[in-house]
Amino acid sequence: MWTSYEVLYLYAMANEWISIAPFSAHPLQFFAWILCLPLIRGTHFYFIHRLLHHHFLYKHVHITHHRNVNTGPWSGISMHPIENLIYQSSPLVHFIIPTDPVIVIIHLVLVTLNPAFTHSGFEKILNKDTKILDSADFHHQLHHKYFDCNYGNMDVPLDVWFGTHHDGTDEATQKLRMKKRRSVAQP
Ligand SMILES: [Zn+2]
Ligand SMILES: [Zn+2]
Repeated sequence: MWTSYEVLYLYAMANEWISIAPFSAHPLQFFAWILCLPLIRGTHFYFIHRLLHHHFLYKHVHITHHRNVNTGPWSGISMHPIENLIYQSSPLVHFIIPTDPVIVIIHLVLVTLNPAFTHSGFEKILNKDTKILDSADFHHQLHHKYFDCNYGNMDVPLDVWFGTHHDGTDEATQKLRMKKRRSVAQP
């Protein structure tokens, strides 16, 4: 899937179907894209993930990913091919807004490999007592545990804004259970 999106972009670029904004001519735009990538990916992920929880898509597609309750690196990239296609579609933004092709390559690397890291099951990498790197995403780990919360990541707090945020506390779990009971009670 990664290769398909990359080939599609390069083919479109070679045939001049899309415009590019090379670093040599637009250096500021290049760095602005680097800063914006987490925001674009966070927003895209939240909305496609809510779509994947639609009854039909969940039952036939997203359930493959949710078979992993206790996550590990392989869980991150364990997806149904249709989910792969949807999840890895965020670089399509570069077909509309011109960028340097290097940004597209970075975007594809991030979107493809990041899930292995964020599902690793280890919150940080330590050297003795010194933290070297944050790893797993606790926010998303809670999504695998409770399903109906934390659809996005905390780069863009859309879960907080749309009332789907779970912070790991007992209060948040109670709130989620009440919400579920109310939705089941509704005709
Ligand atoms: Zn999900
Ligand atoms: Zn996941």
